[in-house]
Amino acid sequence: MLRLERVSKFYSAGGLVSTGFSKVDLEFRIGEFVAITGESGSGKSTLLNVISGLDSYEEGEMYVGGRPTSGFSKEDLEDYRKKYIGNIFQTFNLINSYTVYQNVELVLLTSGYSKEEIPAKVDGIIEKVGLSAYAKTKASKLSGGQKQRVAIARALAKETPIIVADEPTGNLDSQSAADIIKLLSELSKDKLIIIVTHNYDQVEPYVTRKITMHDGRVAEDKQIARRSDLCSEESIQTARADGLQTGSMVRLGLRNTFNLPAKFLLLLAVFIFLCGGVIAQYTSFMNMTDMQTGGYNNFFNNTARDRIIVTRPDGNPLTEADYKTLAGLGGVKQVVQNDLMLDLMVDLTDDPENGNFYIIGSIQEGAADESRVREGRLPEKDNEVFLLIPKNGYADGVMDLAMGSKVDMQDNNSAAALLKEKLRIVGWGYMTEAEEKIVDESDVYCEAWLKLTDGALNHIRSAALEKYCSQEITFAGKIQTIGGESGGTGLIPSKEVPSGQIYVSEDLASMTSGSAYGETLKLTNKSLYFTDQYSFTVGAVYNKENLQQLLSRSDFDMVAGSLFVNEKDYAKIFDKGSFQSSVIVSDHRNAEEIAGAIEEAGYDAFCMEDGLADSSGGFIVILHTLYAVMLAGILLVLFFITYFIVKLILKSRNTYFSTIRMLGATKGNCSSLLKVELFTVFNIAFFLWLAVLGLVKSGAVRVSALQNLIGYLSAGDLVLLYAVLCLMSILLAARYARQLFKKTAMNAYKEEV
Ligand code: ADP
Ligand code: MG
Repeated sequence: MLRLERVSKFYSAGGLVSTGFSKVDLEFRIGEFVAITGESGSGKSTLLNVISGLDSYEEGEMYVGGRPTSGFSKEDLEDYRKKYIGNIFQTFNLINSYTVYQNVELVLLTSGYSKEEIPAKVDGIIEKVGLSAYAKTKASKLSGGQKQRVAIARALAKETPIIVADEPTGNLDSQSAADIIKLLSELSKDKLIIIVTHNYDQVEPYVTRKITMHDGRVAEDKQIARRSDLCSEESIQTARADGLQTGSMVRLGLRNTFNLPAKFLLLLAVFIFLCGGVIAQYTSFMNMTDMQTGGYNNFFNNTARDRIIVTRPDGNPLTEADYKTLAGLGGVKQVVQNDLMLDLMVDLTDDPENGNFYIIGSIQEGAADESRVREGRLPEKDNEVFLLIPKNGYADGVMDLAMGSKVDMQDNNSAAALLKEKLRIVGWGYMTEAEEKIVDESDVYCEAWLKLTDGALNHIRSAALEKYCSQEITFAGKIQTIGGESGGTGLIPSKEVPSGQIYVSEDLASMTSGSAYGETLKLTNKSLYFTDQYSFTVGAVYNKENLQQLLSRSDFDMVAGSLFVNEKDYAKIFDKGSFQSSVIVSDHRNAEEIAGAIEEAGYDAFCMEDGLADSSGGFIVILHTLYAVMLAGILLVLFFITYFIVKLILKSRNTYFSTIRMLGATKGNCSSLLKVELFTVFNIAFFLWLAVLGLVKSGAVRVSALQNLIGYLSAGDLVLLYAVLCLMSILLAARYARQLFKKTAMNAYKEEV
């Protein structure tokens, strides 16, 4: 069965070579009960370890069932140990946190028995060693003799043809020791038992052979009893070695996860730290890449990335029902009904010719509240304006001058007055940091946000809309463009003109051969969205002299060339409803998605972000790459920090793993068990984080740092983070298992036990 031919084992440490044993010739057969004795240091344990495949040897050859083993690889040795060798140690080497039942079960699991086969087998074996009453007792609570019985039960469960026992009674009182030896001899008549002992007298009644070692050599090899009915070599049954079944592995892994609560909590704390670290790093990365701006657009002043421009595909104005539909979509913060204002930049100045200050600003819909007022008050009348300005900007510097003064408001593009009256600056306040950021990021220069009354806003809307229209007139057979971008002052509403009539200038009137009175003037009003035709009858011709009388105004120089129509007609021409609306989303990162939803609802949508030209010249790309490299570096650092903490915590696991290696678990088994354990703890940690983030999102818990954090986490991000963290936890386990297996089974065992 087992034959050693001139086998030697040397240890080399620090250049010194010492001999474990040398030139040993021995042959063992199934059925033998062999005792190896000899003084301390004579090489007994070393010999036993070589026989068990726990240690390699340097010289000679050991045959197992006729097969030479000197060429065995690590895997071959592992296989040999699994199939042939059951070990019993002086120090018992049980899993203390497992019950008696679980200790025995562990062996059957590693051998590949299924869940159904195991219980009956375990119960039978425990009964054989007389521990049925203790099946549910933890190994740590047993006496020495009982522990060694468990070790025997375990060796039996492994069903190997060979059992080796190194000083199995060394830690036991003489009565327990005698019982153990008796038990061993009774239970293993059909096996080869090799037992190392100091106390030969104790084992003498049972052994069939006595080998005495001296100074690393076999000094004596004596047959004691007749070998009764030795098995033939062919009928030797080796142990089942199918390896852990997947289900068993998961169950064992889970058992290991929770059976030491303190260790579990420590690991959980580490993984909570890891998850938190990774989530925080990831979001700060998203935050950094998000701070880019670098874009401009030729058509829109307001290029905020949370803006989506919406129109109807049929070209009609948007209705109240449309606004309702848009406002009802998820993720929509605001629907700006007449969004022409968004792109309107205005100048505020005390004097358009040579003012003391020019403040360029934009008009903001929505009221400011009292808390924003730093000086003065909010606007109450249509000729009052309130300013929100950035700290330490231009406007901040001139606010002493501007506060309380009367100002003109002009379109920044055309310098056209937007309101007929002057405005009074009645109050101001500072922008919030977030608002300043929006202003900073925009490529449009802006020094203030203007808050006006709704009445004032209405006036400006009409003026702005007029700006986006152009008019053509057909008069006396000639077509002429007026107003809009052409530079003329265009149409002016007036109470003095009767409805349906139009008052024209002398210049225009002179185009007719006869009198202009009563002639028809056709007016075409065009915008991006509509072309309308109107017919007017010329009711009067004005000049410098009769302007005051006809139209009650004296600003002939300003209005010369304009056409005057009734206020109601004017409103009919320009108050066409709103053809373009803007949807402001709560989070610009969802703009694309929401634009999709808007189109699904039957509108045309255009994300402002898509219309931005990059003005950064590739710099952003470099910056983002840098951030990504940084993120990877930080993740790596986190990984290693976690690894070292996990390693410290898992030190207690080393004993466990060296023990199950003794029992025949492979490297793969240990690695998988560890993966199950770390993966489980990681999942608990991750889902704890999810729960916390969920609570923060729902508003049940208010932690501003966390609120900030989840702003950057979409479901997709969470899935990505989960995958990254899964990978990290599995890599952690793999790395730890690899370290564990750098040592030979025996060294691991010697160090840990
Ligand atoms: P025994 O079990 O008979 O007391 P061992 O087999 O433990 O003796 O030791 C035999 C010899 O091998 C001793 O001289 C011992 O110093 C040496 N030895 C055992 N293990 C090692 C080791 N890991 N490294 C170096 N020398 C060792
Ligand atoms: Mg020894």
